[in-house]
Amino acid sequence: MTEASDFASNVTEWQRREGRHDLPWQKMADPYRVWLSEIMLQQTQVNAVVPYFDRFLKRFPTLQHLAEAEEDDVLAVWSGLGYYARARNLHRAARQISCIHEGQFPTCFDDIVALPGVGRSTAGAIAVFSFGQRHPILDGNVKRVFARYFGIEGYPGVKAVADRLWCLAEKLLPERDVQAYTQGLMDLGAQVCTRSRPRCGNCPLAQGCTARLLECTDVLPTPRPKKMRPQRSTVMLVMEHDGRLMIEKRPAPGIWGGLWSFPEIDAVGNAMQACRSQFGAEVRAIDQMTPIEHGFTHFSLTIAPLLCRVEQRQSQAEMPGRAWVGLDEAMHYPIPVPVRKLVSQLRGRLALQAVPGQAG
Ligand code: SF4
Repeated sequence: MTEASDFASNVTEWQRREGRHDLPWQKMADPYRVWLSEIMLQQTQVNAVVPYFDRFLKRFPTLQHLAEAEEDDVLAVWSGLGYYARARNLHRAARQISCIHEGQFPTCFDDIVALPGVGRSTAGAIAVFSFGQRHPILDGNVKRVFARYFGIEGYPGVKAVADRLWCLAEKLLPERDVQAYTQGLMDLGAQVCTRSRPRCGNCPLAQGCTARLLECTDVLPTPRPKKMRPQRSTVMLVMEHDGRLMIEKRPAPGIWGGLWSFPEIDAVGNAMQACRSQFGAEVRAIDQMTPIEHGFTHFSLTIAPLLCRVEQRQSQAEMPGRAWVGLDEAMHYPIPVPVRKLVSQLRGRLALQAVPGQAG
């Protein structure tokens, strides 16, 4: 046996014995389900994905349902899972499949990888799990297992390091049992060779693992070079009138593109004027709410929310892409997590204002 076939058979046998076999998308080799799960799993762990996966399928049981849906509905079901570009790409891809592939999920790797939001590793996983084809994968978990087992230094986001890992992924790919092997790599990365404190004592690869032998699992894979995340800030206008809040649809692209949110302005001092001139809302009082910190991949955002109590609203307040909604209704819109937090904060606050003598 070669080192490659030893590696693959250790992973495959371990998967059969101890890997995951009951995930909702493993119940049938349906490319729509496999694709959906792979997209959801791109930046999110299995436990968080499962309820969203079930909810999404309930709302859009087939690819055709998804293709015919409005983007707002897709984003609303995705709301809370984050990285919303994934949902927009999923929706675009469903429409593409509907037009170009007559509603049939493509079986050819080149067609799969050409879909919006599908990279080489995701396309490989879809081809393996849906059609039993032989393709390598290299997601974050697999990069970690390879970097540790083979002692590969260098941040995997650097092209030269990624190329080396892809070469290994191709070389190690077995001729048979590709599904069990691929699932095994994913399961090992998620359950045994975890980011911190890998369980090397339970690992089927322990014997030949460089990082274990050299006791350097804590420094492999090499982390992303540290860069200070820039800090940005914004002011959100939380306009309230008769218990209803004004939200507007954000333009795409851009952060939270296509989602609904409170309008933003640059400075607290401009709030009253902005409410009047941009939104046709006469404000009688403004209260500062608790600021919210939100981290994006490339920057951190501090949101300073202002509760603007509106006395009167003009016709400009009712333009398309704007809505005055109750608190419960707002939660059914596709709104980003910090806005969801703000709406929750408002629950107690608006109830308090309804008590005579409390309004100010
Ligand atoms: S022995 Fe430890 S470090 Fe090496 S692959 Fe297994 S879990 Fe990861």
